[in-house]
Amino acid sequence: MDGVDPHIHVEQSVTRYDARVRNLLAGTFGLVGDLPETVGTGCGVRVPYAMTSSRPESVTCLACREHARAQHLRLAEQVARLGTMPGSTVTGAQVDGAVQHHRDLARRFAEGSGDND
Ligand SMILES: [Zn+2]
Repeated sequence: MDGVDPHIHVEQSVTRYDARVRNLLAGTFGLVGDLPETVGTGCGVRVPYAMTSSRPESVTCLACREHARAQHLRLAEQVARLGTMPGSTVTGAQVDGAVQHHRDLARRFAEGSGDND
């Protein structure tokens, strides 16, 4: 009862610091972020950045797994549209790779929540 949270969470914006997407967005919109010391999580608490993970297999907070799955699915759709934007500097191959990457992550977040088979 000392208030220490043993769970590994996902950052609320699970994809903000994803290197691949960050590079895509930076190239497209000029957006780059610095890593913070503490972050808001998908389940609504604030934890040290070290207590979060973007690896589905590492995240033990179920609410965060649900959150991350939805975020990755949504991002896959957003990235899929990037390639069709006027003035976009990303290639079709880059878009395809990122879309696959996030659909895969979404599936892995869904798989691990509850039953392991
Ligand atoms: Zn959480």
